[in-house]
Amino acid sequence: MNMKYSLSLGRVAGIRIFVHWTFLILIGWIVYINLKQGMGTVDIVWSVLFILTLFACVTAHELGHALAAKRYNIKTRNITLLPIGGLAQLESIPEKPKEELVVALAGPMVNIIIAAILLPFIKLSPNVIEEMDLTRLSHHNFLFSLMVVNIWLAVFNMIPAFPMDGGRVFRALLSFKFERHVATRIAASVGQLLAVGFVFIGFFYNPFLIFIGVFIFLGAQAEAQFAEAKSLLGGFTVADALMSDVPVLHPNDSIEFSSDRLLSSQNKNFMVVDGGVVVGTLNRDQIIRALRDGKANSAVHEAMDKNFIALATDMPLEQAWVNLRNAQKSAAPVLKSGNLVGMLDTENVAEFLMVREAKNKY
Ligand SMILES: [Zn+2]
Repeated sequence: MNMKYSLSLGRVAGIRIFVHWTFLILIGWIVYINLKQGMGTVDIVWSVLFILTLFACVTAHELGHALAAKRYNIKTRNITLLPIGGLAQLESIPEKPKEELVVALAGPMVNIIIAAILLPFIKLSPNVIEEMDLTRLSHHNFLFSLMVVNIWLAVFNMIPAFPMDGGRVFRALLSFKFERHVATRIAASVGQLLAVGFVFIGFFYNPFLIFIGVFIFLGAQAEAQFAEAKSLLGGFTVADALMSDVPVLHPNDSIEFSSDRLLSSQNKNFMVVDGGVVVGTLNRDQIIRALRDGKANSAVHEAMDKNFIALATDMPLEQAWVNLRNAQKSAAPVLKSGNLVGMLDTENVAEFLMVREAKNKY
């Protein structure tokens, strides 16, 4: 999530909370809908107040995850509020089944607790269903509607499919019996089956279910692939996968020269080395871009990536892969006590994964 377009609301328990600018569209839309329906100012104030209170509950839900994670020394980068809900960015996902279970349950638990706290303040009347009217909020039904929405948030999040909390709860429970990547695969399959069900029912009853179904289907797929890849990389270090035959360029070589090297070999990534020290990286896209800009005669150091990331031979392969992905780099030099000993690129890791996967089949 790009923080550039988000407004910081401050910190709670050391965790920065952001609200994304698109949130304003949601508020604007609610005001617009209310005006269009001929609602008065008081009705609009109640509606906006409700949305703000609801998002305070969403923030509390995310804080529930974040504070539970903190117990296991997992930091939370930030919490961002989007019109579709909240997002707590944990620095890592707890891998011990019990920890994942606690962290995943903590969010929905907060909504249940909020609903329980609201209950004594609500006078239930015979026409209780009619009181739940989100299009006509007032002091009569505000707390009741808030309670119902919190229960709904807890139930919705407990759908046993990634990327919902329920998917993580399900995986954690399966992990007590199965290996993590097997548990992930089972949970993802069940989640996708459920997602297909949602889409199917959505066609007949409520189009909103189609949207949820697609969202869950893609989320489950991504989670399964990620867990599978991580489990296959587990136990290896960068030294196991690196390419020791590193294609090297000098910062003063021309772009023309580097494009010749590109065409005459299989290499798509080059390390730029000056006096034995890595000073940058250059990949195919950067060479093509320089050529397109008419810079064939300019030097490599003008087009190279100076903000490259360096990897160490003894770094866990899993960690290196996550670092490459997060930094959006196609390749990185591998150093051993400051000396260039190899290179790791994403294709490299992909091949390593394919080989591991082929060996794991039975
Ligand atoms: Zn949650």
